[in-house]
Amino acid sequence: MKTISILGSTGSIGTQTLEVVRATGDFTVSALTAGSNIDLLEQQMREFHPAMAAVMQEEKAEELRERTRDLGIPVYAGMDGLLAAATEPSADMVVTAVVGMIGIRPTLKAIEAGKDIALANKETLVTAGHLVMEAAREKGVCIYPVDSEHSAVFQSLKQEDHSKISRILLTASGGPFRGRTLGELEKVQVEDALKHPNWSMGAKITIDSSTMVNKALEVIEARWLFDVDFDQIEVVVQPQSVIHSMVEFVDGGIMAQLGTPDMKLPIQYALYEGKRNYLGGDRLDFAALGQITFEAPDMETFCGLKLGYEAGRQGGSVPTVFNAANEFAVARFLERKIGYLDIVRMIEDALSVHKRIAHPDLEAILETEAETYRYLESRWCR
Ligand code: NDP
Ligand code: MG
Repeated sequence: MKTISILGSTGSIGTQTLEVVRATGDFTVSALTAGSNIDLLEQQMREFHPAMAAVMQEEKAEELRERTRDLGIPVYAGMDGLLAAATEPSADMVVTAVVGMIGIRPTLKAIEAGKDIALANKETLVTAGHLVMEAAREKGVCIYPVDSEHSAVFQSLKQEDHSKISRILLTASGGPFRGRTLGELEKVQVEDALKHPNWSMGAKITIDSSTMVNKALEVIEARWLFDVDFDQIEVVVQPQSVIHSMVEFVDGGIMAQLGTPDMKLPIQYALYEGKRNYLGGDRLDFAALGQITFEAPDMETFCGLKLGYEAGRQGGSVPTVFNAANEFAVARFLERKIGYLDIVRMIEDALSVHKRIAHPDLEAILETEAETYRYLESRWCR
């Protein structure tokens, strides 16, 4: 029986991870964490009996402690709680399913403690990929991708020689606004952007998918996970979300992974360290599907993708600015304080004033994040 800790257990990936735990019976849970949703975290504690739990918000942690006194499970608060969950001694693997750069420190701590990582929290790799991959190499821990595209690449690379990769073809659905013009996008409301055609996900990544910033984050994520150049990563729009990504090799052969859009497959594949196990659910029906279509991404209308490629190529602290500005802007858009196209405008603005740091350490990354927030606050939120 393998033991896992889940950072962000109350979110979309977190709850689906627990569905896999429940269905397979092959995993014990050592730590569960939430930002503020203590109602769901309490239910999860009662069902899965972790060795500890943690809540980001202090007052909520105190309330949960009161409510679950009968369980005798310690409840920690704040970043200290998240770090304790990341390093809980009994865990073999940590599932990083928190959203945003908040995941950097716990991910690094979990690696330092020798835990394998099932990585959903892409913002950590985008901003601190060089630190994470180096720490993983030093500690000999494995990083298993949970993101469906990266899991597809991981599956396509099984038994292949990585030095024979020619291109990684990351597929994208194109989101709910595929084919729209900039003029049409100007009027987009929060409700419109929260409607993804194929996947049901947390709010932040759903907005990111609609702007295609998510695909930009995934390009940078792929660069770190598979150690390839940006020129080797191509985005292909495949609106049915049936092909989850592909790898082309030097002989022109292409391996792809296909399936219905269900995050439980990549989650389970990561939990089992790249081994196959039964998973219930719908199967692809090719005759009913009829066709799978492809197109090039529209990088002029969805210029967040272009900005992300550029930020990735520049490297150093630039991807941190790209990511931090996006996190800041998406939060403001969800609060209805800025318009839809302001998201990408804010990213562009933050990137235009940043002085690149070539090899940022953890402190420099977190300071770059804070500086980006301060800048955008002063320029856009007065
Ligand atoms: P959700 O918003 O659904 O869940 C986020 C989780 O993190 C929740 O448990 C939430 O707690 C917790 N959390 C939020 N803010 C904080 C904070 N400041 N401190 C500590 N914990 C916090 O996100 P998703 O599950 O959709 O996404 C999680 C990660 O996985 C993201 O990086 C995303 O890009 C990636 N991902 C998601 C996919 C999906 O299908 N959802 C697919 C591929 C990647 P609470 O519930 O209390 O708010
Ligand atoms: Mg993805």
